[in-house]
Amino acid sequence: MHHFHYQSGELYCENVPVRKIAAKVGTPFYLYSAGTLTHHYRVFNAAFAEFPHIVCFAVKANANLSILRLFARLGAGADIVSGGELYRALAAGVDPGKIVYSGVGKKPEEIKAALKANILLFNLESSQELEEINRIAGRLKLKARVALRINPDIDAQTHPYISTGLKKNKFGIDIEQALDDYCRARDLPHLDVVGVACHIGSQITQVSPFVDALERLKELIDRLRALDIQIRYLDLGGGLGIQYHDEAPPHPDEYGQQLLERLKGLKCTLILEPGRVLVGNAGILVTKVLYTKPGGAKHFIIVDAGMNDLARPSLYGSYHGLWPVVEGAHPQVKASIVGPICESGDFLAKDRLMPAFAPGEMVAVMSAGAYGFSMSSNYNARPRVPEILVQDQDFYVIRKRETYRQLIWGESIPDFLKS
Ligand SMILES: *Cc1c(COP(=O)(O)O)cnc(C)c1O
Repeated sequence: MHHFHYQSGELYCENVPVRKIAAKVGTPFYLYSAGTLTHHYRVFNAAFAEFPHIVCFAVKANANLSILRLFARLGAGADIVSGGELYRALAAGVDPGKIVYSGVGKKPEEIKAALKANILLFNLESSQELEEINRIAGRLKLKARVALRINPDIDAQTHPYISTGLKKNKFGIDIEQALDDYCRARDLPHLDVVGVACHIGSQITQVSPFVDALERLKELIDRLRALDIQIRYLDLGGGLGIQYHDEAPPHPDEYGQQLLERLKGLKCTLILEPGRVLVGNAGILVTKVLYTKPGGAKHFIIVDAGMNDLARPSLYGSYHGLWPVVEGAHPQVKASIVGPICESGDFLAKDRLMPAFAPGEMVAVMSAGAYGFSMSSNYNARPRVPEILVQDQDFYVIRKRETYRQLIWGESIPDFLKS
């Protein structure tokens, strides 16, 4: 369910015509619906209502301060993977008592900042990281609450770049080795070992991989309790998929039900780290057609947004729906939508049947709320695009378009090059 719809042939986000926003801010821009974000959070959260739980929004999916703030006000925590994301989450007013910190490469300064902020939980991904966090916590005379992120060796049946729970992936601690590491962690004086965590991948469209992972972690929890390691938090990560095209991902209710069924009687707090499922279909990228090249072997539609603005098609070959901002009598053509970047991999859609968009027309690239802006870059010296949030009849610029001055911020020319 989302709030992008047509009214008299025009695309609206909630009660604002997209064209009106484009006239104000120019193209390209990201556009989010506050109503959709709120709805998605509430549905997801309600699916776990019967069990003590914390929903920690995965900041990397969409790190805009207003989006983090919106979720925080609804009661969400945050799943962070860097010091920068910690900074963003705190700046947005996320309760540190609901922040979990994942990632294989946490640096000493980042660990220190998170300890000082008194976050809820560090998800540790290697034996060496145990020692490092223990050492830093000791210096600060603190105890770090930690979970071990387990690699349960589960095939999430998703794109290889976003599969994270297989033995061959860099993530987590091999489940075979976990007991050893738990015992070592228990004996380290500045660690408080309170959790078990996993995250098996992203854009997962079946419940069964989650269920399999949960079963493995439950076994581990039993064995840990037998060793008198009391597990208070079970973090099942994120990864629930959304519909981009013809996928049929489970509804959050279904996902919640199947997990809760298997959690009955387990005394702990469940942590979930949804990213994509909360924001993916709550955002679009609006771009304008500059030129078309209809004649040759291929029909190209050249737009003003490129792979630097939305990397997913180039990176994963992923599909995004394409909707006209103003409906017209478009014949269908087989075409590719490409950007201005000097790379052949710069496309938003490839060899697809689509409306024959003409120069000057605007196209909404759908389902772009997750891993859209947050993965964007300045490649080809392109300023990053603005982000707009709609609520009902109003829209707000929640991030301005970057300027050329900002593009060269922090750069300097050394003296020997000046003369
Ligand atoms: C990326 C990530 C998530 C969020 O994944 P989604 O597929 O967007 O739900 C959650 N937890 C961790 C550790 C991650 O790396």
